[in-house]
Amino acid sequence: MNEQMTLPSARIPVAPEAEVLVIGGGAAGVAAAIAAAKGGAKTMLVEQRGFLGGMGTVALVPAFCPFTDKRKPIIRGIGMELMERMKQACEPAYQAEYRETLDWVPIDPEVLKRVYDDAILEAGVTPLYHSFVYEVVLSEDRKTIKGVVLVNKSGRSFVPCRYVIDCSGDGDVAALAGVPFHKGGDSGELQPGSMCYLLAHVDRPRFKRFLEESGDTGQLHQTVERAMAEGALPEGRKSISGLAWVSDYLVGVNFGHVFGVDGTRAEDLTRGAIEGRRTAQRQLEFFRRYVPGFEHAHLVASGEQLGIRETRRIEGDYTLTVDDFLEARSFPDDIARNAYYIDIHLATSKSEMTFNHLPPGVSHGVPYRVMLPRGIDNLWVAGRSASSDRAVQGSLRVMPNCFSMGQASGTAAALALRGGTGSRGISVPELQQRLLEQDVWLGEAFVPAGMQQEGDAP
Ligand SMILES: Cc1cc2nc3c(=O)[nH]c(=O)nc-3n(C[C@H](O)[C@H](O)[C@H](O)COP(=O)(O)OP(=O)(O)OC[C@H]3O[C@@H](n4cnc5c(N)ncnc54)[C@H](O)[C@@H]3O)c2cc1C
Repeated sequence: MNEQMTLPSARIPVAPEAEVLVIGGGAAGVAAAIAAAKGGAKTMLVEQRGFLGGMGTVALVPAFCPFTDKRKPIIRGIGMELMERMKQACEPAYQAEYRETLDWVPIDPEVLKRVYDDAILEAGVTPLYHSFVYEVVLSEDRKTIKGVVLVNKSGRSFVPCRYVIDCSGDGDVAALAGVPFHKGGDSGELQPGSMCYLLAHVDRPRFKRFLEESGDTGQLHQTVERAMAEGALPEGRKSISGLAWVSDYLVGVNFGHVFGVDGTRAEDLTRGAIEGRRTAQRQLEFFRRYVPGFEHAHLVASGEQLGIRETRRIEGDYTLTVDDFLEARSFPDDIARNAYYIDIHLATSKSEMTFNHLPPGVSHGVPYRVMLPRGIDNLWVAGRSASSDRAVQGSLRVMPNCFSMGQASGTAAALALRGGTGSRGISVPELQQRLLEQDVWLGEAFVPAGMQQEGDAP
């Protein structure tokens, strides 16, 4: 679109001030809002959909990535509490199967939406759903966000605020505030999106028997390869990314890719949604024809939006790099640990996927500075678009890490409010102490001598 026009200036309603304004209600935003409110800040959570959960509910991403480093839980605090609450709100059979599970816990999206609603309301957060941030108002020196302009069914309104936490997953607020960012690889390539969906009326015992008898893997490598060779599936990754069994008759599916979608462009998202639903329909036919146990599968829901893995990565005070990941570095200002592997999905149907794993029991630190966008004093960016190089974004982006960053940013915002400082003016040791009190794991260096847990690396 090259043509432009100037809008007439307008007077718009002003909402009551939010001390902490959280934009986006995915894993990062839910945790940020709860932490800020529990820290004593008058907190508002703005979300463009009519429910919380981000990719886990909007896009039906079917499972939580691991909360452990394969030896011990390293993502604890609010994220762990929310996942446990979801388990407890699920059916008895689900609870019996997943009670002890911390890695790849399947998401029941309807349960998760209610758990998030309840959790933010209990914490005293004021939610505003169905509302989209499309403009920010900066101070004269352009270092502080004075508030954001929302658009929703009621029209436009201005929400004044003291602090903002950008959990839009796309760094929308940061970009609107002029923070520099990167998007994708050197030639602008982005990880593909995936249209995830839920299949009902499947027969898991029969499916398990098929795996035992055929020797195929849970990701159906042989079956997918055969279907591709026979033209029943398009060329692409020769396996299913994930099947997450919510019950013996309901399964969440993450399978295949939609290429060339920039999740910050409405035109691309529109094409992605249409292409994604077509892909899901074709995969449904594959499942019915090729996979025993799925003969009568019924597609009950696909993502409201194509699942988006990668858009903007803001430039922060520190950029977490692949060397930091591979060397399992710790930082003096660590606010979380990460052990999830580097998981970069192919940019085209012909390119390769990249995986890099840390050994069991090993994690690296996530410094506070990755959430501090350059140039702005009262803004944090938590979640998928925090400051990292592209490789590390392929690891940091998963929901457990987004919970951690959300919790740390919300706790930091409440501290900044209390001290009347900017995001860089808080005491980082005090932030770390607060996080430890909230059961966050910051690594062995933060465990008092003699309190080491079983499985902790020396
Ligand atoms: C296909 C796929 C599979 C994945 N598999 C897994 C997996 O198995 N396990 C796992 O843990 N992670 C997985 N991930 C990664 C993970 O789901 C996301 O990276 C993570 O959800 C990001 O969390 P977030 O809170 O930063 O952002 P999001 O989850 O994207 O949430 C952002 C929220 O902000 C809202 N929003 C955006 N812009 C605005 C705006 N301007 N105004 C108001 N609201 C706004 C959105 O509606 C959304 O609710 C997967 C991702 C994809 C796409």
